Amino acid sequence: MNPRQLIARARSRVEASPEERLRRLQICEQCPHAIVTRIAGRDVARCGSCGCPLASRTRFKRIPGYGEVHCPEGKW
Ligand code: SF4
Repeated sequence: MNPRQLIARARSRVEASPEERLRRLQICEQCPHAIVTRIAGRDVARCGSCGCPLASRTRFKRIPGYGEVHCPEGKW
């Protein structure tokens, strides 16, 4: 991919609103699937159901090539 294509892809990502992201994180906070993994010397909160880091999973509403972002367990 060239820089223009990468920028176009980044621009087509749709972020969730701050309120929606907070709502998602509050649900994940209470979820038994939430886990912590040590990556490159840092603790990272991840979803144990899909494996995604929760910081990024809760951030986007839609990602090109992936589609609508949702909880794999149907909680949000
Ligand atoms: S994304 Fe869903 S299944 Fe994963 S930790 Fe959050 S609420 Fe739980």
